[in-house]
Amino acid sequence: MFPFSRHLSLLFALLIPLCPAQDEAAPSQAAAWAPATMVRDVPYQSVNELRNFYKLDTVARASRKGALAMGNSDISLELGPGPLSMRLGGIPLALAHPLARDTKGNLLLSRSDWVMWLDPILRPTYIQKREVISTVVIDAGHGGRDTGASFDGTSEKQVVLLVAQALKQQLETIGLRVVLTRDSDIFVSDQQRVDATADMQQAVFLSLHVNSADPNACGPEVYRLAPPRDAHHPAPGNGEDARNAALAYAVESALSSVAGRVSAGCCYAHYTLLSSLRIPAVWVELGYATNDREGKLLNSPEYREKLAQAIARGVATFARATNPQTKLTVTQAPKVTKPATPPSASRNETKGASRASDSNRNNRSRSRRRRRN
Ligand SMILES: [Zn+2]
Repeated sequence: MFPFSRHLSLLFALLIPLCPAQDEAAPSQAAAWAPATMVRDVPYQSVNELRNFYKLDTVARASRKGALAMGNSDISLELGPGPLSMRLGGIPLALAHPLARDTKGNLLLSRSDWVMWLDPILRPTYIQKREVISTVVIDAGHGGRDTGASFDGTSEKQVVLLVAQALKQQLETIGLRVVLTRDSDIFVSDQQRVDATADMQQAVFLSLHVNSADPNACGPEVYRLAPPRDAHHPAPGNGEDARNAALAYAVESALSSVAGRVSAGCCYAHYTLLSSLRIPAVWVELGYATNDREGKLLNSPEYREKLAQAIARGVATFARATNPQTKLTVTQAPKVTKPATPPSASRNETKGASRASDSNRNNRSRSRRRRRN
């Protein structure tokens, strides 16, 4: 259940007149933190400090046994029950560092997870890099010889291209310029996808995919670039960590609303593509090919249209949240403009889902089974 999901817009607009926490390294803001507790050389802050900062007065009933739930009229936050588990407004957010406790037993959250997840979502207007978004780069994953997952008589490369084309229409309707990294069934390298964004400003990047795991896994899932493995050598994409968090959450929240309020959550990944992009970027898994119900839904033009509209809503929410001057609104009802039947699968693709062929998939932040807890 997502008791606060209808308040997402309000949540995004939330302003708390306290010290910004987003630039962890800024000396002028270092004094804002209470002294950190070091756990395996990682700085942690107490959850009590976090509660005071965001005025999370209520100890709420947790949706999952063993989780610590807190909130106020706008925010619903759960920590646990797993060590890498957190939920904001019902949306799971994968932690980069496990929850910990100090010597007095107080629950601790890593400073990185506070800064990399919660603050850009709860206080988007404190994100330092703010600009009106005018362009969306839609990257239909795979293509050509790279089919991605095969399922229900179709393949990932075909489904994501159809969603990309529907999304282009949605975004252009609300006045955004759209660039597609591919508009047909051709192979496109990661470098070509990155090159499509060269010198872009006021733009965001969405890479569209279909997920694969065990048959029970379901729901949309959005990845953003993980923190750098070496803090002294961040990837170009880490320059957008704050906006990546806000974009990932906005898109995942919108997608979960069309997926029966099911969400596989927002996760970190060290994908080469996300590492290389210098504009806000997320990797969107639309649903699970390996789940019978979702596989069939992804093959439905009506459902793909709903997904496209949800992503457009997510982009508009992100754009408005990070810059209040933005006026984008997605209001039109879901509509199928043409009877888009996916092209038939190639002859050597088998019925039923196969593993996706994402080359860097093993760089994900955690396993599917762990995410399903
Ligand atoms: Zn893929």
